[in-house]
Amino acid sequence: MRITRLETFGNAFVCFVRATAEGGVTGWGQLSTYHADLTAEVFHRQVAPHALGTDALDFEDTLRRIYEREHKFPGSYLRRAMAGLDTALWDLRGKVEGKPVVSLLGGSPGRLRAYASSMKRDITPEDEAARLCRLRDEKGFTAFKWRVGAECGRDVDEWPGRTEAVIPVVAKALGEGVDKLVDGNSGFSPARAIAVGRMLEDHGIGHFEEPCPYWEVDQTAEVRAALSIDVAGGEQDCEFSSWRLMIEHGAVDILQPDVMYMGGIHRTLEVCRMGAAAGLPITPHAANLSLVTMCTMHLLKAIPNAGKYLELSIEGPDYYPWQEGLFRGAPYDVSDGCVTVPDAPGWGVEINPDWLARASHRVSEGRG
Ligand SMILES: [Mg+2]
Repeated sequence: MRITRLETFGNAFVCFVRATAEGGVTGWGQLSTYHADLTAEVFHRQVAPHALGTDALDFEDTLRRIYEREHKFPGSYLRRAMAGLDTALWDLRGKVEGKPVVSLLGGSPGRLRAYASSMKRDITPEDEAARLCRLRDEKGFTAFKWRVGAECGRDVDEWPGRTEAVIPVVAKALGEGVDKLVDGNSGFSPARAIAVGRMLEDHGIGHFEEPCPYWEVDQTAEVRAALSIDVAGGEQDCEFSSWRLMIEHGAVDILQPDVMYMGGIHRTLEVCRMGAAAGLPITPHAANLSLVTMCTMHLLKAIPNAGKYLELSIEGPDYYPWQEGLFRGAPYDVSDGCVTVPDAPGWGVEINPDWLARASHRVSEGRG
């Protein structure tokens, strides 16, 4: 079954992909978010031409060939574009076989524990504690992540003293019996990260994410060696060579590939296998409620070394106005702290036709 048509529907923030194969069967996927209009250009120029006419169901090697054909362009944009092809073809195969993607991957649909993930730093410790406690009481979340330091902050906080305040205030408000995680977003030097890490240890926080600039693997390894709690990272990395380096240097306890930054499910599975071989769990990065989180849900219910929970963004229209109205229904509804991986074929979600009607549409079609 050959791929005959590849379309994008998007804007500058998010862009869906529709793959069509012989006989008219279709599947829906997504390019990675942000600068998605640029990624769509890469998709139609550097991905679609190599994919049209290839097998729509057996496509892992097609992804490798795209990389070989475009080997002058390693790095993020090609991977972000390839994610659209990969995720659309997984959906298409699910629809052909009448199975959810999770079943194609060897797992089963059903409930999945999520952690409530804050994306904000411009929020006071008291306000952050209040909204996380509300989510604990209303949705039953049993795990939470909040932010410390500043993004690539070079040891300078969002405002003076915020890190020292937000760690104890939120940890104490959430109380016992929940998992507590923080994210440094590449904000600290090793010395400052280790000092912050000691505070985290003292306040029952078990997961310290991206403490140092993520590209400085040895800095992260130094922090991991000094602390008893888990150090996590990898969300930005999309090349296998980076993952190999991270694992060989003992930089982290938990690997956090992002399905869309990685270039789709097939390439993320390879990172999961690398993690399994090194005895490391996978807690993927999924920072918004576009398709990335649904793809991550299917993945987590299928891999043997899945981490303890799904990352689920708690941010709404004030932070992510562009994620409103992407899907029909409420695919990310939470009850008792869990989401549900649907049992419908493919990803099991329907993209909102009204949203698609407003999107910029582009087509690549097969020759002959
Ligand atoms: Mg992070």
